[in-house]
Amino acid sequence: MTVENPASHPTSLGRVALVGAGPGDAELITLKGARLLGQADVVVYDNLVGDGIIDLARPGAERIFVGKMAGNHTLPQEDICQLLVDLARAGKSVVRLKGGDPFVFGRGGEEIDVLQAAGIPVDIVPGVTAALGAAAAFGFPLTHRDHAQSCVFVTGHLKDHSVDLDWPALARPDQTVVIYMGVTGLDIISERLQNAGLPGKTPAALVYRATWPNQRIYPGTLATLPAIATEHRVKPPTLIVIGSVVGLMRK
Ligand code: SAH
Repeated sequence: MTVENPASHPTSLGRVALVGAGPGDAELITLKGARLLGQADVVVYDNLVGDGIIDLARPGAERIFVGKMAGNHTLPQEDICQLLVDLARAGKSVVRLKGGDPFVFGRGGEEIDVLQAAGIPVDIVPGVTAALGAAAAFGFPLTHRDHAQSCVFVTGHLKDHSVDLDWPALARPDQTVVIYMGVTGLDIISERLQNAGLPGKTPAALVYRATWPNQRIYPGTLATLPAIATEHRVKPPTLIVIGSVVGLMRK
């Protein structure tokens, strides 16, 4: 058995914690996430991380923004993965902060694969995903027993920029459907779901920036949602919520 002597290495290996920041409101990060943030040498974060959450990092911690700035593109995913590997190899304790939950449409899986392949220890801390934040913020229980026996989270944005979902499965009755990244494909989504048998009068809403100070809900129906989105120029980050539970919202 070989016992490694850390002193024989120039620097010992750091580690990366993949932390869910929650949907926006800084108080919705977990205690564990907040603790790790407070201990990290470096915080790597992007757009959907709520205001005030970065302030939970140590004053001396390095903060690296890898999100989309006006006119610029996001740092490519490979570069983000490489950055995390490089930081950990330099002995840093890194928090990779992601909006919502890192494993719900957050590409956390890809980052973990690369880190694990590089032999870097990874911790994973869940977060409150946007759908749960939206439901709480506007008071619609996603699985109210009189309305929905199931709730599905789907992405409206596929790798090749198309929208190709299992429409009959999504059009089933007694179900709540929450679509992430779906605003640009809203016309197609509304049309295909109706063609698959979901009534146009089904309650539906667009929820913009749930739990942020400027959160908004735009209620309507499956049929009217595209016009509502155009009229109000609804932009991401927005969720599309479809199902009769939307009729229970409080606002
Ligand atoms: N990992 C994140 C989702 C990232 S995908 C999570 O678990 O929430 C990005 C999409 O999430 C956005 O385009 C939007 O559809 C949705 N989203 C994230 N935060 C949101 C918020 N506060 N309000 C509404 N939608 C949000």
